[in-house]
Amino acid sequence: MNISKNITDIKASLPENVTLVAVSKFHPKEAILEAYNAGQRIFGESRAQELLPKYKELPKDIEWHFIGSLQSNKVKEIAPFITLIHSIDSLKLLQEVNKQAEKQKRKISVLLEIYIAEEEAKHGFTPKECMDLFASNELHTLPYIQIAGLMGMATFTEDQTQIIHEFQTLHQLFEQLKSSYFSEEKSFNTLSMGMSQDYMLAIKEGSTMVRIGTDIFGEREY
Ligand SMILES: *Cc1c(COP(=O)(O)O)cnc(C)c1O
Repeated sequence: MNISKNITDIKASLPENVTLVAVSKFHPKEAILEAYNAGQRIFGESRAQELLPKYKELPKDIEWHFIGSLQSNKVKEIAPFITLIHSIDSLKLLQEVNKQAEKQKRKISVLLEIYIAEEEAKHGFTPKECMDLFASNELHTLPYIQIAGLMGMATFTEDQTQIIHEFQTLHQLFEQLKSSYFSEEKSFNTLSMGMSQDYMLAIKEGSTMVRIGTDIFGEREY
């Protein structure tokens, strides 16, 4: 794998308004540094116990995004430094992030993960649960949370029509929330969708942030 070439090639292929998150989970610090030296500054990790040592030992101008399923008891460990949490899948988790953010005296930006796939294993709010959450008063009780947008993962399938349909569902929900609840604010601006397999489709369907691991770093060894 030529990591710096992959970073350069992928960046060149992305439209200007699309942010690249280099998903470095299960890859060593050396691989991250290679991407860093090619100019990449945003990295995504999915486990707190892996992220913490990487955060401590790697350059401080890296922006760390949390993309995996997050246990409530891990929130306090990442709260001091995390730039964006993509994977908020319950109100309870949101409340814990708010609490830990307050302790750190910082606002934490998050995305709500929306369940769009036909796979039991995936997490997130259904579109209806998400609409209900906004319609309720709950979000007003969380002053240390900045809801910056939505994240979703399409079904792992060869069927492009299905993937496109799932991304369209997510994009529609994003636009609906934006016009209903954020018409006066620019802060709700991130639609995180697209991985190595499907990021070109995701961009066509309105993605503003892609999360790419394998196409940059090669296959992961679990
Ligand atoms: C691992 C992971 C990715 C990256 O997947 P690749 O197929 O390696 O690009 C993206 N998003 C999430 C949420 C992940 O867990």
